[in-house]
Amino acid sequence: MRHYDCKNYINLDCEKGMCALSKAIVFIDEEQQDPCAKFVLAEKCGVCKNFQSMDTQGIGQCIGFEKENWTYASCGASTCKGYMS
Ligand code: SF4
Repeated sequence: MRHYDCKNYINLDCEKGMCALSKAIVFIDEEQQDPCAKFVLAEKCGVCKNFQSMDTQGIGQCIGFEKENWTYASCGASTCKGYMS
């Protein structure tokens, strides 16, 4: 797991953020050897059922709306009306 894949991660800048639960400063893409017991998968296009055909750059197609369009797998989706887990 990576911190920025967790719903409890708060972004501070391009390399680090804060855990909303522990208040610890963490690096955005730091791989954890032992997964955090409080890890909650964040809503992102990449884990949405309406996300398809991702390429090697992490870009895929969104089929969640009337008109299909491209999106990044890493795009935050906590406010998207089309998000489906
Ligand atoms: S429906 Fe929303 S969350 Fe799902 S892939 Fe499309 S834009 Fe992303």
